[in-house]
Amino acid sequence: MTITPKVRLKRAGSPLSQRVLQIPPSGIRKFFDLMASIEGVISLGVGEPDFVTPWRLREAAIYSLEQGYTMYTSNYGIPELREELARHLARRYGVEYDPEQELLITVGVSEALDLALRATIDPGDEVIGPDLGYVAYQADVILSGGVYVPVPATAENEFKIMASDVEARITERTKAILIGYPSNPTGAVMTRPELAQVAEVARKHDLLVLSDEIYDRLVYGIEHTCFPSLPGMKERTILLGGFSKAYAMTGWRVGYAAAPAEIIEAMMKVHQYTIMCAPIMSQMAALEALKAGEASVQEMVAEYDRRRRIMVKGLNEIGLQCHEPKGAFYAFPSIKSTGLSSEEFAERLLREEKVVVVHGNTFGERGEGYVRCCYATSLEEIEEALQRMGRFVNRYQKAGT
Ligand code: PLP
Repeated sequence: MTITPKVRLKRAGSPLSQRVLQIPPSGIRKFFDLMASIEGVISLGVGEPDFVTPWRLREAAIYSLEQGYTMYTSNYGIPELREELARHLARRYGVEYDPEQELLITVGVSEALDLALRATIDPGDEVIGPDLGYVAYQADVILSGGVYVPVPATAENEFKIMASDVEARITERTKAILIGYPSNPTGAVMTRPELAQVAEVARKHDLLVLSDEIYDRLVYGIEHTCFPSLPGMKERTILLGGFSKAYAMTGWRVGYAAAPAEIIEAMMKVHQYTIMCAPIMSQMAALEALKAGEASVQEMVAEYDRRRRIMVKGLNEIGLQCHEPKGAFYAFPSIKSTGLSSEEFAERLLREEKVVVVHGNTFGERGEGYVRCCYATSLEEIEEALQRMGRFVNRYQKAGT
């Protein structure tokens, strides 16, 4: 879908750039607007923790304000935060980054991804990324002047990309592989051996890897593999990480990039002219998160895991076949048995039963026939939503037989 601008300029026609015209508006927004006009809605729509940021982290930010920390910071981010982050990455994943040159604190992974692409992509460069994948991947590649080359990440492969499929899409213009595991929207997690095969393709064809690991802490019964921890990958990977999901800090807008010094320096150039620095109080809260947030992370992860099991069991019981998601906080059931398209399903479910889910094709063409259900909401709401969805599915499955 493209935007048709109403304003016309005599000289140039559309006032909008071709790049912006090319990117579709996020399909998720439409449902938020519709949802706002209906009462008693249960939302499994937004990919956001329902927890409030742990008190200790909020307190650290409040205290920093009381102390008068209200100014710009270094463009790279406050040194203490970078040092703590370097220790954190070394401790958790065994990857060593120089806090002075190889880490950049950003306004969320959103900014880090944009910077990574703008710093590395020339017009026409191809970036191979998952279909299905996070909504910003394709849009950000287009905005950077690149071309997004989708590689299947579908139910047949448990929503993981296959190294052979990646390799089959490599051309002379391929510059990078963009991966995002644990995955939004499917909850898929790639194992170390599976990622090692992708790493081998990157090495063989001398490609950059952008690895969005914002859900690294949200894994259930499986270990997260940090891509740059794979042999030979640190020097060709831009690791994108954040605080939004694991520490329930979406509104603080803070994240980071870790990469070889030359790339971080280039990303910092863009960051310095467009953003300057991430907000200081958010950096203070992030510092506290790394120092003292672990117990809260573990509590939240245990709770997500409980909800995940109930959600997946419930979806399968009402006849929406659902793979077991091993990470993030999304279930991605097939709705094919209802005979509805993903968009019809989501729209009718909202109007008829007041439950919000996101139609799967928002995340790539291959998402048709699926919907995304976020289980970062209370157990009571999940249970009520499942009952409503059960009624809904029953009606449509009967109508189809
Ligand atoms: N990457 C993925 C896969 C996401 O799901 C999200 C948010 O939903 C982001 C990045 C953006 O995260 P941040 O809040 O750090 O900008």
